[in-house]
Amino acid sequence: MTRELFSTNEMKVLFEKLASFTSYPENKGVTRLAYTPIDQSAHQYMIDIMQKAGFIVRQDAVGNIFCRLPGKNLDLPAVGTGSHLDTVPNGGAYDGTLGVVAGFYALMQFQPQQLSRSLELVIFRAEESSRFGFSCIGSKVLLGKVDREKWSLNRDDDGRNFFDVLDSLGYPSQDIEQCQLTDDTYSAFIEMHIEQGRRLELAGKPVGIVNGIAAPTRFQVQVTGHADHSGATPMYQRHDALVASAAIISDLNRAACREAVWGTVGTIGKLNVYPNSMNVIPGEVNFLVDIRGIESESIARVANHLKNSIKKSEQDNDVSIQLREISAEAPVKLDSNICHLIEQLCIEHNIDYMTMLSGAGHDSMNLAQRFPTAMIFTPSKEGISHHPDEFTDFDNIIVAANLLKDTLYALAK
Ligand SMILES: [Zn+2]
Repeated sequence: MTRELFSTNEMKVLFEKLASFTSYPENKGVTRLAYTPIDQSAHQYMIDIMQKAGFIVRQDAVGNIFCRLPGKNLDLPAVGTGSHLDTVPNGGAYDGTLGVVAGFYALMQFQPQQLSRSLELVIFRAEESSRFGFSCIGSKVLLGKVDREKWSLNRDDDGRNFFDVLDSLGYPSQDIEQCQLTDDTYSAFIEMHIEQGRRLELAGKPVGIVNGIAAPTRFQVQVTGHADHSGATPMYQRHDALVASAAIISDLNRAACREAVWGTVGTIGKLNVYPNSMNVIPGEVNFLVDIRGIESESIARVANHLKNSIKKSEQDNDVSIQLREISAEAPVKLDSNICHLIEQLCIEHNIDYMTMLSGAGHDSMNLAQRFPTAMIFTPSKEGISHHPDEFTDFDNIIVAANLLKDTLYALAK
């Protein structure tokens, strides 16, 4: 077959089409939580257009999608690219989707058997932690990093865990250990993504070449006090779970500020208060802690500080506190050879670029543990992400998508 080229304008149309897959079309922004009906539809839409374009498409036991353009030599490892389609609640249209759309655009620029190596576009499932409290599920499964026990403890807002949801959709959750990719699947993997910070915009550069990814260490904290009448209970008789939590939150913030020189950050962004009533002393509070950085020791110092703060707050407030580690991932260095290749291509094509670290986690940090991996960033307007106002200028997207195409070509020719 001979493929018709896919224009940058068609790429834009595809991008806009994917943005229309949202649970709340009346709102600005995109809400497409992992494995919800609208997320399923968006993935099916991609499968349909991939098949229509003549690619070899397969789905694994968690619904990761693989779209392959065969090369001349099928014995050689392929060159991979890809990202994710799920979003946070009330998120933007670019995070993840851009890497899928640009990857599709790039593959469409080549004919079957044109290059030595095959090219493969991967759509990873459940990259965002919004639904199950832990991130990059699809790419973890591909690397064999499945922890059934830990994962089944994390539940969505409906009380269902990842495995329940897979089974209800007809995916064979018992087979997820078999999704693991062998070492010779990819000779290289490139993910294109929005920066989600404002360094590129401030530097006026259309392209970032990412040479390292900060990793999240996450905890769930459960504070158990006692719910009593807010009027009838004197201050000295209280076991206020929210007051105890507030002390920990301030402590974590201070600990992370002290590590600023290492780029480490700490956030408590989700907190549930029970019974959450104005005239009842909070008896129980659950919250999630997210610590990220590039330097493992700095991350460990913040995590230690959290543990000490919890002990102190337990005593000060006469409550009991359980700390559970949800995930602890090692910061990742990306492949310097591929980064140099991308730099070289930028110089050849007169593209202004900078090398940088990624503060946000991506599927690439899992891929990098088995395959030489790199990332290409595009600027985020005002650094806004995970928000309806997420925006990247389409001219910059075209530059980055063509750079992705040229990188795939150089690695696969
Ligand atoms: Zn993303």
